[in-house]
Amino acid sequence: MADPDLVRCDACPVTCYIKPGKAGACDRYANEDGKLVRVDPLVVLEHTIEAGEKVVPFLGGGSAEWDGEIVKSPSTFITAIGAGTTYPDYKPAPFIVSSKVEGIDTVTVVTEGIFSYCGVKVKIDTDRHLGPERNLVRVDGEPVGHVTTGEYGSQMLSLGGVNHLTHGGKKEGRVTCDALLRLCNGEAVEMTVDAGATAIIQAGKPPVINGKIEERMRVGCGSATIGMFAKQWYGKVDEVVVVDDHITGVLSEHQAGKVLGAQDTGIKIRGRKSTPGRYFHVAEPGSGWGGTNVMDPLEIVTGFDPKHAKPGLRMLMVSTTGEQHAYYELNEELKPVEKDLPANLQESVDRIAENCEPALSTVLFMAGAGGSLRAGVTENPVRLTRSVRQAITRVTAGGAPVYVWPGGGITYMVDVTLLPERAFGYVPTPALVAPIEFTLKLEDYAALGGHVDHVRPVEEVLKDSSLRLRSAKGAA
Ligand code: SF4
Repeated sequence: MADPDLVRCDACPVTCYIKPGKAGACDRYANEDGKLVRVDPLVVLEHTIEAGEKVVPFLGGGSAEWDGEIVKSPSTFITAIGAGTTYPDYKPAPFIVSSKVEGIDTVTVVTEGIFSYCGVKVKIDTDRHLGPERNLVRVDGEPVGHVTTGEYGSQMLSLGGVNHLTHGGKKEGRVTCDALLRLCNGEAVEMTVDAGATAIIQAGKPPVINGKIEERMRVGCGSATIGMFAKQWYGKVDEVVVVDDHITGVLSEHQAGKVLGAQDTGIKIRGRKSTPGRYFHVAEPGSGWGGTNVMDPLEIVTGFDPKHAKPGLRMLMVSTTGEQHAYYELNEELKPVEKDLPANLQESVDRIAENCEPALSTVLFMAGAGGSLRAGVTENPVRLTRSVRQAITRVTAGGAPVYVWPGGGITYMVDVTLLPERAFGYVPTPALVAPIEFTLKLEDYAALGGHVDHVRPVEEVLKDSSLRLRSAKGAA
């Protein structure tokens, strides 16, 4: 190294040489008076206090120091947020912390994982068509993911992943990493879908689709809506059509209507009949009624069979959120004529809206910790995988519970809103940095070949004057 004032950071493969008073490329490490320091404080969780339990103060401005008392709850939990990374991974994790939980000696191995294999799954509660499945999702014009299979009342995106981070151009990797980082840290990200919509997505907030804030998540598909509200409609109206891009429901034909005694109305609906009163593909997807491209619902009604229909027949058409509705009566030519919604039907439309949950965007971070990161926990990495599989080791991310996928490796998912703020970082390789903790009994840790000679009691970590600590409320 030419300049003796430079400090070399070896916490990731970039190996920055950092000038005095400056931070490295990821802003996570800095040169402070010639020493390499982690810029962000180490986050210590104060677990949620159960009613009636005693609070043990800690990090309370100096006067309320940890008193050494081992308590069941609230407990202090050293998260990996701000813990730093040891690279290459064969070095022990930055913190291996012992504590007593319910009288049992436990160990938590704490590290900030650098994840090249990671991404987010985004659930967007909306009926509005975002774009065809498999179409690319772009941020700043760069492909960062794709539209994946929709779920019940929600559109789904799969963003990030190793291919966008590493296989595309340099800009694609950088933009993908930045979009993932912002989404995981709870920031709003604007994205566009090829041949589809523009969406602003922020974890835990309503999605904004094509500039419009989405307020309601559908009550169900068209068929389910018929099932839920048939009784409230029966006797007040002759026909109800719940317009839905997936399964449009027709009261008079639907099992729910038949059971109540609804008479045939002779209505003819566009699309493919699945089972009685349930129609698929009545229109193309879009931003109209029930996630279709229909702006006038009569577009999906091709006529009425005079054998069953009669003038004056009353028909309600409604979307799956109740957001759109229209009331018609048939004229002498059996053509629907729009009329004001009768007061006794208004209530049922309002009831649909009332039963809609608030529309939200949900962001789940998903990553594979089954790689070399395990070597920071144990000298025999596969034993950690087995131990997680056997539920001997609990995995958390910033203290938040994670779902570990069955099968090989340690592939996990976590709701980013459960982590303390600013829990995620990045390195310009590019890859995301995410906290991960492994907690297990001390004896099990020793048995799986853990770095037991690096274990430090939690009290010692909390009193370590070289550390900057930040307390946060625990989610788990
Ligand atoms: S990018 Fe960050 S972690 Fe990697 S070497 Fe530079 S300062 Fe260290």
